[in-house]
Amino acid sequence: MSRTTTATIHLGALRHNLARIKAMAAPARVMAVVKADAYGHGLERVARALDSEAECFAVAALGDGLRLRAAGHRQRIVVLSGPDQPGDIAEMQRLQLDAAIHHEAQLHWLAEARPGRGRLRVWLKIDSGMHRLGFAPECVAGVHARLAAMPGLDPEIGLLSHFSDSEVFDGEQTRAQIERFAEATRGLDGPRSLSNSAAVLGWPQARADWVRTGGLLYGLSVVDDKSGADFGFRPAMTLATRLIAINRIGQGESIGYNGTWTCPEDMPVGVAAVGYGDGYPRSAASGTPVLVGDTRVLLIGRVSMDLITLDLRGAPQAKVGDRVTLWGDRLPVETIARHAGTISYDLTCGMTRRVLFVED
Ligand code: PLP
Repeated sequence: MSRTTTATIHLGALRHNLARIKAMAAPARVMAVVKADAYGHGLERVARALDSEAECFAVAALGDGLRLRAAGHRQRIVVLSGPDQPGDIAEMQRLQLDAAIHHEAQLHWLAEARPGRGRLRVWLKIDSGMHRLGFAPECVAGVHARLAAMPGLDPEIGLLSHFSDSEVFDGEQTRAQIERFAEATRGLDGPRSLSNSAAVLGWPQARADWVRTGGLLYGLSVVDDKSGADFGFRPAMTLATRLIAINRIGQGESIGYNGTWTCPEDMPVGVAAVGYGDGYPRSAASGTPVLVGDTRVLLIGRVSMDLITLDLRGAPQAKVGDRVTLWGDRLPVETIARHAGTISYDLTCGMTRRVLFVED
C-alpha cells in the first residue's frame, strides 16, 4: 500500500478524445494542443499516445517543440507564441517548427530566415478582441504582404486568432471576434484557425481550416456547470491517494488550520495523504466532494500541504488504507475546480513533482 499521491493518465481516453474532436470538427483539421506539459499530463507521454493519429501538435514555446522532435515526432508542430528572440528563427527552421508571428520585432528577426535551411512556415496572429497577442486587424493586410515578400518563408501564410469567451455559447464577444477576423483577413490567402475547445463545442461557424484543441483532448471542459463527460469526452487523469487515519472528534471541536470547520456532533474524521504540496488546490473549500472507495464524502477544514480532512459520517465502512479519489472518472475535475474557484485546466497543470505518474 503506497501513500503516494498518484496521477493515472488514461491513454485510451486521450485517443478517444482526439477521435471525437476530429469527428466533431471535420472537415477542419486538428492541432492537438500539448502546451504546459500537455496540461499537466506529460508532454512526451501524451504525444506518444497520440502520435499515429495527431496530424499536428501545438505548443507554447520552442523548447516544447524541441522536446517533441527529440522524442521522434515528425508531424507539424506550431509554436503558438512564436519566436522569443532573434536566434530562435534558425532553430525553428532546423527543427521545422511553425512560428506564430504576433509583433513587429518578430518581423525583423524573420529576416534571419534563409531559404536554404528549409522554408519556415508562419502563422500571422491577429488580435480579434482578446487583446493579448496579435496584430491589430487594420495592420493585417500590410503584415501579410511583408511576410509574403520574405524569401526564407513558406509561401503559405496561416491566419490565426484566439477567443477570449468562447465558452459563452451565445456571447457577443465571440460573435464580434469572428466578424473582426473575417474582415481583417478578407481577400488574403492561407489556412485559417480560430477555434479552441469551447468553440468546437459551441461555435461551429468558427471551425475554419484548423481547430486548436487542448482541454477537450484531456476530457476537460470550461463550459459553466458542464464536465467534458457531458459532451462525450473521457477524463484523461485520475488523481488518487490513501486514507491514512480515521479519528473520532467531539462535538464543537474544530478541524485543521484556523479551525474553519466545527464538528456538529461526535463524528469520524478521515485524513487523506494529499495536499497543496501535491497540487490539490488549497482553495478547495469545505464541502468539496471526495471519493473514499466508491462513497462520496465531503472535505472539511483547510487543505494542508500534505493532508486533507474528510467528514466520514457518510462512510461508516471506511478504513485506513482505503483508496481516496480526488478527481477522475466518477468525480469530474470540473466539480473540484468549481469548489476551488478556478478551472479544471489550472488543476491538472498544477501537479507537483512528488506526484507519481502512471499510465493505463
Ligand atoms: N490556441 C491558443 C492560442 C491557446 O492559447 C490555447 C490555450 O490556451 C488553445 C488554442 C487551446 O485552448 P483549449 O485548451 O481551451 O482548447
